[in-house]
Amino acid sequence: MKQLSREINTKGGRYAIADRTFDNAPQVLKKIPKEEFQKYFEQWQHPWNKGVAPKVIDWKEAAIIWMYKCCPPIDDFDVFRESKEQNFFESQESIIALCTHLQELMKTIEDLDENQLKHEFFKLLQISLWGNKCDLSLTGGENSSQKTNIMNYLEDLKPFILVNDMEHLWSLLSNCKKTREKESITRVDIVLDNSGFELITDLILADFLLFSNLATEIHFYGKTIPWFVSDTTIHDFNWLIDEVKHSNHKWVSKCGADWENYVKTGRWVYHDHIFWTLPHEFCAMSQVAPDLYAELQKAHLILFKGDLNYRKLTGDRKWEFTVPFHQALTGFHPAPLCSIRTLKAEIQVGLQPGQGEQLAASEPNWLTTGKYGIFQFDGPL
Ligand SMILES: [Mg+2]
Repeated sequence: MKQLSREINTKGGRYAIADRTFDNAPQVLKKIPKEEFQKYFEQWQHPWNKGVAPKVIDWKEAAIIWMYKCCPPIDDFDVFRESKEQNFFESQESIIALCTHLQELMKTIEDLDENQLKHEFFKLLQISLWGNKCDLSLTGGENSSQKTNIMNYLEDLKPFILVNDMEHLWSLLSNCKKTREKESITRVDIVLDNSGFELITDLILADFLLFSNLATEIHFYGKTIPWFVSDTTIHDFNWLIDEVKHSNHKWVSKCGADWENYVKTGRWVYHDHIFWTLPHEFCAMSQVAPDLYAELQKAHLILFKGDLNYRKLTGDRKWEFTVPFHQALTGFHPAPLCSIRTLKAEIQVGLQPGQGEQLAASEPNWLTTGKYGIFQFDGPL
């Protein structure tokens, strides 16, 4: 398995291509006794026919999902696991800096005035944004870790934020905090992108939202199967919290212990749903996965991390750069939402007139290098 994983990761390509990724799959599958296949297929057949098959468009995708969901040892096999773990281990310097910053902030949070709190919120939002640069899909599985302390570069990176709706996020959450009655909740949902360093930045933000009282509950959404190279699965989520908890660094391990406690006490909730690995654009969600849509409707704010979520939010269509984000969502409005994304695919809406053209003239690849980022909000204020 390790050798298979290594071969796949060195093959490169912007995204994993199913044909190449599964070149060696027959050899792997041949080792599984036929009876095992039969047993798991029978167990899976009913829910498959009823729930999954009608929603799947491409048979190859169906085969991969089926294989992952019902074929041990494949159902526990992640070809990208090694790279995701390597990304985490190689980003230790940044992780220590972030966890230390968070723990110091926790101690002084009561003394901060509104502006200082807002400033800290914006800082952690930007860290979560630039954490999205560390994506194995962009490097074809090559090294993408964060070796330097990202906090030192936030000011330098600001000019690269093309749409900046952070103020809207602050208004929404600080209003919730001010008007919240005792016992009532403010729920922020985070639709995750990559594991490794990016997930750390998301958990740091989620932790801050709780101890600053800007939110009282965080719900995370990951993938049911390994997806788009470095995307987060439940295994990655649990593994990372456990690693952080067992760190030798006292502030890192304190973060891990807190995060484990949030999960145990239900202040952090992890969900997965097969919809996230199906090819549908999000405007189809209310029809295709009404249960998931209903879940998202419970949030006061939904943060969508990363490029693939943006493509699915906007239906991956050839919109003009100036088309309003609200329009490009094509009816997908479960709750106020914000895309936090570095640009890696040729789609961007909600820009100022001329902004896209100007960028294209000076940097032909501005849409795909991950150099630029957005906080793009949609919802009533
Ligand atoms: Mg990803």
